[in-house]
Amino acid sequence: MSKRRITILPGDGIGPEVTHEARLLLEEIAEALGEQWTLDEALVGGAAYDATGSPLPDETVALCKASDAVLLGAVGGPKWDHLPGSTRPEAGLLGIRKQLGVFANLRPIKTWPGLLLASPLKPELLSGVDMVIVRELTGGLYFGQPKKRVEDGAAVVDTLYYTRGEIERVVRQAFMIAQGRRKKLTSVDKANVLESSRLWREVVNDLAPEYPDVEVEHILVDSAAMQLIQRPNQFDVVVTENMFGDILSDEAAVLTGSIGMLPSASIGLDGPGLYEPVHGSAPDITGKGIANPLASFLSVAMLLRHSLHLDEVATQVEDAVLSVIESGCRTRDLAGPGEEWLGTKEISSRVRSDV
Ligand code: ATP
Ligand code: MG
Repeated sequence: MSKRRITILPGDGIGPEVTHEARLLLEEIAEALGEQWTLDEALVGGAAYDATGSPLPDETVALCKASDAVLLGAVGGPKWDHLPGSTRPEAGLLGIRKQLGVFANLRPIKTWPGLLLASPLKPELLSGVDMVIVRELTGGLYFGQPKKRVEDGAAVVDTLYYTRGEIERVVRQAFMIAQGRRKKLTSVDKANVLESSRLWREVVNDLAPEYPDVEVEHILVDSAAMQLIQRPNQFDVVVTENMFGDILSDEAAVLTGSIGMLPSASIGLDGPGLYEPVHGSAPDITGKGIANPLASFLSVAMLLRHSLHLDEVATQVEDAVLSVIESGCRTRDLAGPGEEWLGTKEISSRVRSDV
């Protein structure tokens, strides 16, 4: 019997509401497998700041590092907006990513046949969209030094710095993910102007022979931005550097039209992965029992697949979410005008009873 440890970080806003349902799901899965899993909870974000004065207490870091995976709700909210940088809830999130060494951020973007009307794009463009954007998370322009005002404030410098090793490890993750999917890898860069992109492209081409079953294409980021809208179903796995990935993954998220349905994973080489819904803490609906927990359920599916290697169970969770949506159940964020919808707990039990 295998013993798994998962740390749950409920965080702020609707985070505790959605992770509570995700916890029930994990408990039921463990029970069905006849395994005993340890599910610990720890503080992060504004909740941690209020209790301890730090958005990322040492105990939280220690617990996360000792687990197989970490499931996060959301952090932040207006209550903590006045705080200085290092004590802000968001600093807790950046801190835990850094502590866990998670350098690849995975954002699956999938349109749901029953939800195409929620998107601003035409339904005929959207059917069959099923891609994963793999974004490099810990290097590039956001972290390179120097990063400062120069010339007495009259000029400014940010640095786009990548080592070959940093590129290689994230690109390898992307190749492996592509092998488990439709076997197409699109690498996005700006190799016509950026030296860093020329190295990026070189690394992708150098690794390609090791993954002969994967078809590789390179496209420029400006073209990628257009094609995500014009022909989104051509993409399978997209890999790109930090800033391009940040922008393209938000653009792609809009395709689905439903932020309450989008999961994400951040993974490293070994050590626990960090799983979280794409949505934020949603202060406007906190405590009302109407938050959509399905992005958290789909994040649990990613956790099962990538950290616990329970592929089949992961697919079962995804299928249960799909079938509940297909059966017409909606949460408030997914419901059209006049359409009935279910609260957090109701939709959670529908899905869980299907898993
Ligand atoms: P952050 O800065 O944390 O990303 P935000 O305000 O930019 O916060 P969200 O917190 O994701 O973004 O909220 C955006 C909108 O989507 C809000 O109106 C919120 O109520 C809604 N929303 C977000 N997540 C959910 C959810 N799980 N269920 C229902 N509605 C949601
Ligand atoms: Mg936001």
